[in-house]
Amino acid sequence: MMHGSKFWIIVASTAFCLFMWLLAIFRYAPDCELDNTLPQTDTIATVELSAIPAVPENSVLPYGLVRIRDIAPEVAICLKYSGTDNFTGQKLYDSVWDAFLQPDVAEMLSEADRHLRRLHPELRLLVYDAARPVSVQRKMWEQVKDTPYRNYVANPERTGLHNYGAAVDITLTDSVLTPLDMGTIFDYFGEAAGISREEELLRRGILTARQVDNRQLLREVMRHAGFLSVSGEWWHFNACPLGEAKQRYPLIE
Ligand SMILES: [Zn+2]
Repeated sequence: MMHGSKFWIIVASTAFCLFMWLLAIFRYAPDCELDNTLPQTDTIATVELSAIPAVPENSVLPYGLVRIRDIAPEVAICLKYSGTDNFTGQKLYDSVWDAFLQPDVAEMLSEADRHLRRLHPELRLLVYDAARPVSVQRKMWEQVKDTPYRNYVANPERTGLHNYGAAVDITLTDSVLTPLDMGTIFDYFGEAAGISREEELLRRGILTARQVDNRQLLREVMRHAGFLSVSGEWWHFNACPLGEAKQRYPLIE
């Protein structure tokens, strides 16, 4: 025979446990449901939008540049060289540097954004880098000039389209700014970043069909607006050939 008080202790503790269990279900179930509504994507990295101080509205920008956010406000911006999450591991831009382009190049980007919306209203463009001073180019070059990766960074003596505000590094994101899976991260130094042999990379299992589709969509919207892709980097687009940029735009020191 169970002693009377022992019986009531067991009843009370069972009731307490049941109460706590029900409380837990009703309290946490809505959060779990919310979590389940988040899109399940093969995320490479979650974007942290950089809080860059705005240049005063009416200030005249040097080199004739404009801010992308003034011309194409729907384009998301996360300048990789404003933080340390880049191949140099260093913060290369000061706090006032923003995503700048030449005005006509920014208009091209705006057209690419409009075209993307027509095709896929749920997707967005995300800029990783735009105009880049040649002084920053020199710092990048110092890191790679004596390594096998020297072909992945433009020699500051020859300059590159970024140094004229005429190139953009860019990707696609979903509606909550999670970058689409492009097969490699931005600034990946290797053959998987290239676009000229994607069919072969697909056959060899280095890229998936979905990754190639995502890259092709990015190229489609950028080319529609007149941008030129380059063979080695899926994220890089030039507004024109280098010789033309040298004639049309000043070199950003
Ligand atoms: Zn680039």
